[in-house]
Amino acid sequence: MWETWLLKPGELTLKGGNRKFFEGTLKSNIQRLMAKIDDKIKIRFTAGRYYIQAPQEKTMLVENALSHLIGISGWAKTASCEKTQKAVLDECIKEAKVLSLAGIKTFKVAARRTDKSFPLTSYELCCLAGNEINTATGLKVDINNPDDIINIEIRENAYIYSSGKKGLGGLPVGCAGKGMLLLSGGIDSPVAGFLMACRGMSIDAVHFHSYPYTSQEAKEKVIRLAQITGSYCMGINLYILNFTKVQMLIKKNAPENWITVLLRMAMMEAAQKTALKTKNKCLITGESLSQVASQTIENLNCTQNRITLPVLRPLIGFNKENIIKEAKAISTYEVSIEPFIDCCTLFTPPHPVLHGKVAEANAIYESLELEPLIDEALATYELVK
Ligand code: ATP
Ligand code: MG
Repeated sequence: MWETWLLKPGELTLKGGNRKFFEGTLKSNIQRLMAKIDDKIKIRFTAGRYYIQAPQEKTMLVENALSHLIGISGWAKTASCEKTQKAVLDECIKEAKVLSLAGIKTFKVAARRTDKSFPLTSYELCCLAGNEINTATGLKVDINNPDDIINIEIRENAYIYSSGKKGLGGLPVGCAGKGMLLLSGGIDSPVAGFLMACRGMSIDAVHFHSYPYTSQEAKEKVIRLAQITGSYCMGINLYILNFTKVQMLIKKNAPENWITVLLRMAMMEAAQKTALKTKNKCLITGESLSQVASQTIENLNCTQNRITLPVLRPLIGFNKENIIKEAKAISTYEVSIEPFIDCCTLFTPPHPVLHGKVAEANAIYESLELEPLIDEALATYELVK
């Protein structure tokens, strides 16, 4: 047996002249996700709705993919029937009986009619279906706080569905260029990547480790974070760079209170070089203003001053509580809090500079002559797709 899902696109309905491009991107993302599940799955886009038809036994996989799909505002498993009053009402009653068996007590009907030749208006259809369902099943109408909503959409066919799920919203991944995420093992950077993906950006990621000062487990944790984040981003290419030599040189030759800012400057430089090689248009970080000493406005300015690509910081105005809420929602939180040392926590100075001056930062940075070591790290990267 085959099942059908109806998907409602999100924001892209507002996109004017670019709408076709956005719709096409979303369709190809759906196709890519479904092809991984079963190459027999059919996808159709008609009059503002996407439809997926898949074998019933693939339900869990399809619904899991839809819960990770950016660009849709909602989705539901749907029944379809002829556009006659009788067929629609019969289908509504069938749907209501299933809900009743599941223990639902109250409902409301929401109708939408894009085919205006259907003889009833949406309002008339709601009233009629509400009454018929009530008579046939005993379920009560509750307009304000129903246990479930029975939806009727009169389009090229009639579609009837309940238990609609909220989608992630946003714009389809791939319609807003590609950005290089600086991915640490912490809570913030996966959320930053997810938020930019919700603005339509494809994501690559770069991670710096300092093996053997940081462990193999810390690296594997970042790979898992990239996999979870990538499940929303149509996949992520993760570039892993060994920064041990860069970090040791900074520790050996730089004033102790500057260590963290200088390491961040080196990371930005290496991330930019990786981004330029891989056609990424910007860098993305999980920085949030005043979260830690390296994220004062002066230190953020030092960190990015040698970089020409735009540096996007989607979390800049978030507090930690809200970042954690997002991280839990995308299931990266539990992995992020696993206790492995990141290279940033290695050699953290007890009294870091708080309001670094760009000229001083640059003078120290240049005196360290980090360039050859950064290039060496770039030449020996590991790529995890
Ligand atoms: P998170 O690391 O997720 O931000 P955090 O609070 O530990 O949590 P910081 O250590 O302050 O964050 O790092 C700020 C930002 O710098 C990170 O969000 C990330 O974008 C980048 N960053 C830090 N460490 C690394 C690393 N080892 N590899 C790649 N990027 C990093
Ligand atoms: Mg942080």
